[in-house]
Amino acid sequence: MPKSRPYGRADEWIPTRPAAPGIDRGRPPGVGPLAIFDLDNTLVDRSSAFARWAEGFARQHGLGATAAAWLIAADEDGFAHRSGVFERARAHFGLDEPVDRLLAAYSLDYPAGFRPDPAVNGALVRLREAGWRVAVATNGPPTQRLKIDNAGLTPWLDAVCVSGELGFAKPDRRIFEAACAQAGLAPEALGRAWMVGDTASVDIKGADDLGMRSAWLHRGRRWEEHAFRPDVVVGSIREAVEHLLAND
Ligand SMILES: [Mg+2]
Repeated sequence: MPKSRPYGRADEWIPTRPAAPGIDRGRPPGVGPLAIFDLDNTLVDRSSAFARWAEGFARQHGLGATAAAWLIAADEDGFAHRSGVFERARAHFGLDEPVDRLLAAYSLDYPAGFRPDPAVNGALVRLREAGWRVAVATNGPPTQRLKIDNAGLTPWLDAVCVSGELGFAKPDRRIFEAACAQAGLAPEALGRAWMVGDTASVDIKGADDLGMRSAWLHRGRRWEEHAFRPDVVVGSIREAVEHLLAND
């Protein structure tokens, strides 16, 4: 059954900031469609960046050939608590440095491993040129912004909402509402917005709760939730953006 889509009337939408370059072609300010993206393993290749950090950390501490794989397993795709990862690593490898020092170094070294992806940047440019506003809603600490900068994403984003700064995280509706407001759109814009992300329980659940449409990046996995599901399953950001452009 199709979801109800409260589009609202264009003249009821309140422009709260001037149009960014390359968007709102032919539309009054504040009326463009909205795409909200997750960050880790959606707009940026977190897995590769973490592997780069793990290899550097292993080298720096002289931990041997299998240490990076151990760290990657302990990371649990980013979902393991950071201090827990370093407590276990400290014990496992017999490291002298205290956990808070290891964490402080990690918070600077790990974001440095993020690189621009021309396919992702190109896809975001296409969205903007088609009149879309582009936002990021990410669960994580304020250092998520370093990843965004290092990945070269900043020029294409109208809004960046980081849970560690806001005090609420996906799937909480407030982070999606914050992204919409920060992108200069009235709350009604969420009714025609799309969410793109790789984590069912936060990205797709959050969108489903709000009646937003959503695209799930499968990353080689099968969809396993029964209570909710995405509108489309995609293999890449480019594919997601093609779908969004065809389903404004
Ligand atoms: Mg993610």
